[in-house]
Amino acid sequence: MSQQTSEEALITPLFSSETIQERVEEMGREIAKEYRVATRNSPLAVVAVLKGAFMFAADLLRAISLPCTIDFISASSYGSEKTSSGKLTLRHTLSLADRHVLLVEDIIDTGLTMQVLTREVMEMKPASLKICTLLDKPHARKHPVEIAYTGFMVPDTFIVGYGTDYNERYRELPAIGVLRS
Ligand code: 5GP
Repeated sequence: MSQQTSEEALITPLFSSETIQERVEEMGREIAKEYRVATRNSPLAVVAVLKGAFMFAADLLRAISLPCTIDFISASSYGSEKTSSGKLTLRHTLSLADRHVLLVEDIIDTGLTMQVLTREVMEMKPASLKICTLLDKPHARKHPVEIAYTGFMVPDTFIVGYGTDYNERYRELPAIGVLRS
């Protein structure tokens, strides 16, 4: 990672900023191709999961050359560390009836967050719902999730950077790395 500080020395680089940008642009093109017809009458409703997906969603939105709206949903697990405790608090003001919805997540780990969010969004009766994640940790899955768009597969390690954090640190880093314990 650039401008390495002693704290960043704890991070093993995984994906550079350039690699991420290339992949996000590819994903944007793929999404635009698939939604071109569906969104003729109504813009694609992109819903990003806070806080981790804020940076990915901002770049992805610019890579989807279709009319889009952006909303945010906050899903926090109890405690300061990101563990899948099974207890999630959701906060949002969404109204997605009849909309084509794309849920945008930073990392899918056990799948619990996406399972809970999918249920919540489906209750709003959207026209369709697909999931897009920058990172997928398939080996950590406990709750099955159907993912339509994946940026990168990652091993079952702790990731930071490009929006993702450890105790609110490292979100600002333009690259992604593994935090060494
Ligand atoms: P899940 O509910 O799929 O187990 O976990 C998803 C959420 O846990 C993600 O939104 C993310 O906030 C957090 N998470 C899971 N794995 C990691 C990781 O390696 N690094 C960080 N920073 N957050 C993670």
